[in-house]
Amino acid sequence: MHEWALAEAVITSAAETARQRKLAVVDEIVLNIGELQAIDNELFGSLVKEQLPSAAPELRGAKIRVVKGEAAFECQACKKEFCEQDAKVGEEEREAIHFVPEMAHVYMRCPACGSPDFSIVRGRGVFIQEITGRP
Ligand SMILES: [Zn+2]
Repeated sequence: MHEWALAEAVITSAAETARQRKLAVVDEIVLNIGELQAIDNELFGSLVKEQLPSAAPELRGAKIRVVKGEAAFECQACKKEFCEQDAKVGEEEREAIHFVPEMAHVYMRCPACGSPDFSIVRGRGVFIQEITGRP
């Protein structure tokens, strides 16, 4: 994962959104970073900030806020949606899962039926959750 390129993509997409919504001044950009995405939230937030001075003029004064996107899983067998807490994963296992999401299948079972066959429905990727500004 190339964080700098990702930060650049965030800036580009924020500028696009600002244009579409006809915002002349963007006050705040809220970024949602999935907890299964191996990215340091603070570091990524400051990378985005560093790129603001050279971004589109409407973005230059924006504040950057980073929120954590909680991971969610869906059981393939019984269709139950659950999170790590439901599956009672320990702290160490949790860390491993956040680093290598595929490890979830080693450490977790569906809390409803016990199946190891589930998919990750949320918690990966970076997206712009919200942009606030003025026309
Ligand atoms: Zn299940």
